Formats: sequence, structure tokens, C-alpha cells
Amino acid sequence: MKKIPIGISSCLLGQNVRFDGGHKRDAYITGTLSQYFEFHPFCPEMGIGLGAPRPTLRLEKSDDAVRCTGVKDKSIDVTKPLRDYAAQNHLQFAALCGYILKKDSPSCGMEKVKVYANEIPHRNGVGVYAEELMRQNPILPVEEEGRLGDPGLRENFIQRVYVLYRWKLMLAAGLDAQSLTRFHARHKLIIMSHEDYRDLGQLLASVSKENVQAIADQYILLLMKKLRRVASRKNHVNVLQHIQGYLKKELSADDKSELCELIETYRRGEVPLIVPLTLLKHHFRKCPDPYIDESYYMSPYPQELQLINQL
Ligand code: SF4
Repeated sequence: MKKIPIGISSCLLGQNVRFDGGHKRDAYITGTLSQYFEFHPFCPEMGIGLGAPRPTLRLEKSDDAVRCTGVKDKSIDVTKPLRDYAAQNHLQFAALCGYILKKDSPSCGMEKVKVYANEIPHRNGVGVYAEELMRQNPILPVEEEGRLGDPGLRENFIQRVYVLYRWKLMLAAGLDAQSLTRFHARHKLIIMSHEDYRDLGQLLASVSKENVQAIADQYILLLMKKLRRVASRKNHVNVLQHIQGYLKKELSADDKSELCELIETYRRGEVPLIVPLTLLKHHFRKCPDPYIDESYYMSPYPQELQLINQL
């Protein structure tokens, strides 16, 4: 499989672009994720010509506007250049399937960045570049390296990256009503583990040759919004029981009760998701079902990433 293109704050790859001339190389990103993702680095502060080392910046709030200014020299205001830099790169962003940002940065931070008002910091800001990046690209999965340390958030981000990657592959192969409907069918169980999928199904009910592009645009926007919600254990249990229904005529009473017990054990948090999934896969190998075979729920990304083992 080709590596998936992902944007990233350059300092996370070990590039010496920070204000102090250093970097913030992240071992998980440069080790595990780099085996699957092709990273496209952007350093907005270098991109606007600040150089390294450089004066430190911070977000300042005054007159209801948040600006990115120098900490010592308030006459330095790079708010507009940072926004413009994000706008200039929009064509490159459009080719990406995800973006990993450096937390806490007044340029790159995705959330909870310190905003100073009368010298008092409030952790409620978004980096100027990050804000523009997300505004321009509402379907792009975006996450911070700090949050990738959380198993649920990490799985959620990687899940969204692979969904968007498959979406782009589908578009590249040629969009039509049939390919769109098939894409939805193959992702239905994944969506179900995050949120209700019925409105997406209703949207597709009206798809035709004439409106397929407009419906696809609405569909992917709504889908990526739903997937931002982290899949809950309760929803996974519903999906597992739903999948179990496809085996009801195939399994013996003993096998059924073993599967029910395992799903119950997962519900209680005593085993990770991989355990009931492994048993389900075993049964579907012996009793294949075309809908389950096509679904991405049980194999949403390479197993080697070991994400389901921690859910
Ligand atoms: S956080 Fe962003 S602006 Fe700061 S050094 Fe890293 S890439 Fe550059």
C-alpha cells in the first residue's frame, strides 16, 4: 500500500525550526507512523521568513481580536502573514489525508493555546495558522502530537485518516452513484460505532447521476464531522451485537454463548476490542458473509498499528 500523505508541523520531525533553533522530534510519529504515512512538513513561522532562532511569539487578546505578536516586542504582529501562509498552501493541503500539529504553539496549536489578556493567560486559543488550516479544510482529520498519546484519540485520528484516504481513492477511480453507495455500505459499521448513520443513508437515497457531486460533497462533510466523535465502548458493543446477528443461523448454541460472553466481557472493560473481533473474524472465515467481508469495521487500518488492542 502506498504511504498516506499527511501534513505535519516540521519541528515534530526533528527539523531545527523552533524559536530557539531546536526541534520537538516525536518518536511515535517518526517511528511507527512514518511506516504508513508520508509526511509533508510545514513550519509556518519559518515559512513567513522569521528564521531560527527568532523572537518568541504569543497570542494576545485585545478589543475582542486575537493576534499573534512578539512577547517582548509588541510591534511584531504576524497574524496576517501566518493566515496568508496557510492560504498560499491550500493546494498542497487539498492533497493531504490528515495533519498533525504541534500543541501549545501560537501558530500551530489546535486547541487550548494560551491567549494573554492583560498579561493573564487563558487556555482557550487556537494557533493562527492552525485555525486557518482547519477553516479551509473542514474534512481534513487534524490532531496534535500530545493528544496522540491517548489511545482513543490516536485510534480516532488514524481511523479518520484511512477513511479520507479511501474516499480520495474512490474519487480518483471515478465518482458515480454506485461507488458512493458502496463506500457508505462499507463504512456503515464504522460510522455506527461513532454516531447514528441514518441521516447519511437518507442523504444518499436521493443520489442520481445529475446530483452525485453535490451529494458527495455534503456526504463527506457530514461523515468526517461524525467521525470526529470518538467511538464509545457502548457503540462498539452495539456494532458487535449487530455483526453477531449475521451469524445467528451459522453458530452452534455453544459458539453463540461464547461470543455473547466475550462481548459482555468487553462491555465490562475486562478485555480490549481486539478480543471479540478476533473471535468474530474466526467465525466469518468459516461462514463468510458478503456484507461483513466488504465492511471495513473489522480491518479499518493495518493491524500492525495495534490500535484496537488498546481500546
Ligand atoms: S510549532 Fe509550528 S511554527 Fe513552531 S516550530 Fe513547530 S512547525 Fe514551526
